[in-house]
Formats: sequence, C-alpha cells, structure tokens
Amino acid sequence: MSYKRVLLKLSGEALMGSHQYGIDPTVVTEIAQQVAEIVETNVEMAIVVGGGNIFRGVKAASGGMDRATADYIGMIATVMNALTLQDALEQAGVPTRVQSAITMQQVAEPYIRRRAIRHLEKKRVVIFAAGSGNPFFTTDTTAALRAAEIDAEVLFKATQVDGVYDRDPHTNADARLFDKLSYTYVLTEDLRVMDGSAIALCRDNNIPIVVFNLRQRGNIMRVVKGESVGTLVGG
Ligand code: UDP
Repeated sequence: MSYKRVLLKLSGEALMGSHQYGIDPTVVTEIAQQVAEIVETNVEMAIVVGGGNIFRGVKAASGGMDRATADYIGMIATVMNALTLQDALEQAGVPTRVQSAITMQQVAEPYIRRRAIRHLEKKRVVIFAAGSGNPFFTTDTTAALRAAEIDAEVLFKATQVDGVYDRDPHTNADARLFDKLSYTYVLTEDLRVMDGSAIALCRDNNIPIVVFNLRQRGNIMRVVKGESVGTLVGG
C-alpha cells in the first residue's frame, strides 16, 4: 500500500445514489464494502462525511433562513449520514467510531483529536461528523482541517465524475480531464475541486488531494494503492 493514513471525504450526495434526496442503502453498503477491503490491508482511514443530500445551509439561507441556524441544521444532517455509514461499516465487519464536532453524547463521541488518532492506530475507522462545528464552513474545509490534524498523508475527495475537468463534463462533451494540477492553479482558475479554503489549507500543510470517481467500483482501493486514478492536486 502506498499510504498508511488517509482521509476520505464523502459528500452527502455520494450516499444518495440515483435518488433525488436522502440515502440509498445499496450505495452505502457498497461504499462500506470498499472501505472494509482497504482497512483489511492495514491502512488507517478517517472519513469526513457531508450532508448535502439532506440539507444545505447556503440554500436554506437563500430562502430567507438565518444562515448560522441553517448551517447548524446542515451540520446535524451530516451526523445522520455518519451514523448511517457507521451502521453499514459495522455490518461489513469494520470497527468504527463516530466523532461529532457538535456534542451529541448519546449518539457519538465528541471530537477529540488525540482520541481519534488512537482509534486510527487501533485500526478503527473514524467518521468525523458535524463538520467543523462552525457555521459558514463546509465539510470540504473540515476534511482538509481534520487531515492536517490527524497527520493524514493524503486527502481523497470522492466525486461523481472522473476527476477535475477544465469545464463541466456534464454539459461539455469535450471537457478535458486533468491528471495533475497545482494548488495555485486550482485556486487561480477557480476550478471548484473543493472550496478555496480547503485547497489553501491542504497547500499550507502539504497534503495532496486525489479527486476521483466513487461510482466506479474499486476506485478507492486504486487510489489507496497509489495508482494514477482521477486528478492529483499537489505542490
Ligand atoms: N456545515 C457547516 N459547517 C461545517 C460543515 C458543514 O455549517 O464545518 C453545514 C453547511 O450548512 C453545509 C452543510 O453543513 O451546507 C452540509 O455540508 P456540505 O455542504 O459541506 O456537505 P456536502 O456538500 O459534502 O454533502
């Protein structure tokens, strides 16, 4: 294996499958099986899960809701996804802990960095829920932050497309897929790999980002092995 400790960012939409909203249990089971295969190879894996399949703060705020309140709802949505993922992982035989940035003692541990690292050392998958715990942030930025905190070697950003393109591949048939990009290029060209603060945090802490297609089975294993899949954003 190419990496010892990795952080996987799963968007809420990744759990949605072909549904318009919420969670597709078949897709979650499939992701859990892929994670189980990786954990068996002794790679330490932490996951940051989003909540966009349930609630997005910005969208609710554009409809008139107070932004901070909307963001707290968004963070709570990520806890639902985290618990769903935990259930699927444990059914796949993977010991798992959920750590929430918003204290929710009955359902999850609080986020404690040193404890998270200890879980990882014991080969438990740690799912970070409730984003960073702060409104006006995203789970992408949280993924970069947690990756830096736990000293992950790489951040894997799972998406619904093959990697980073020069244009939207859904609307441009001739969009070009990049193999490799620098952080600065992504930021200056506003390529929307992840939000700018996430990219800047990875750049400042030298954490490479691999953007890859989660829908293709076996892709998580390929990126963990260091095969060239998707787009690598780095130095
Ligand atoms: N959120 C937040 N602070 C954070 C992380 C998330 O306020 O640190 C809120 C925000 O409202 C966001 C929602 O939680 O819209 C869901 O997270 P995100 O949109 O990042 O999920 P994804 O797009 O990955 O599914």
